[in-house]
Amino acid sequence: MRRKLAAGNWKMNGLAADLAELDAMKPAAATRQTDVLICTPATLISRAAEAVSGSAIAIGGQDCHVNASGAHTGDISAAMLADSGAGYVITGHSERRVDHGETDAVIAAKSEAGYANDLIAVICIGESLEEREGGQTLDVVGTQLKNSTPDAATGANTVIAYEPVWAIGTGKVPTLEQIAEVHDFIRAKLVERFGEDGNAFRVLYGGSVKPSNAQDIFAVSNVDGALVGGASLKASDFNAIIEAL
Ligand code: PEP
Repeated sequence: MRRKLAAGNWKMNGLAADLAELDAMKPAAATRQTDVLICTPATLISRAAEAVSGSAIAIGGQDCHVNASGAHTGDISAAMLADSGAGYVITGHSERRVDHGETDAVIAAKSEAGYANDLIAVICIGESLEEREGGQTLDVVGTQLKNSTPDAATGANTVIAYEPVWAIGTGKVPTLEQIAEVHDFIRAKLVERFGEDGNAFRVLYGGSVKPSNAQDIFAVSNVDGALVGGASLKASDFNAIIEAL
């Protein structure tokens, strides 16, 4: 049985005062048989880790450098994330693929850097609107999955997040049939490559998940939870999503 995961991505949002939201998420996280993760900005990780200490909430980073240390001004290594109290790292978010030109090979290397520091990698994949309208969704998702996921990936050290780029922050959500088609495809590819362990990877859906649609999305086959942006910033919304799992 795969444990469900409700993962929040705060992106470039959050100041010290917002740590109060984590406090308000603790009761919802404690009562569920699910994992709960909040990926804060790097500036908040150590304070967030302290704030959730002893609770059911894990803290993650949103990116890491491929190298362990060195002359990379402004970058953060996986070792630094782990040292700050993170247990997870998001790799390959579409905003990083687009804004920073990250390739599948770079994303695989970042995920490996995460593994080397005992971080669980949340590897993001997903098609653009143009690719969906061009009928290329499964080709794009299949290629990103294959090339962004390292050979060393396991169901224990890796979570896959399917996030159609056109659904992120837009309020647009694929139909439940479209979500099922891609999640079933990802599961089949994971089993083809990793054998029985392919069934152990959690596959999250991400893209405009909110309290009003979470329950329907979580009922879709091979959806093991969600990666949530906007609706993870406030405990009132995120708690409702945790409770829908
Ligand atoms: C995301 O940033 O990964 C995301 C899914 O954002 P939102 O939930 O706001 O669409």
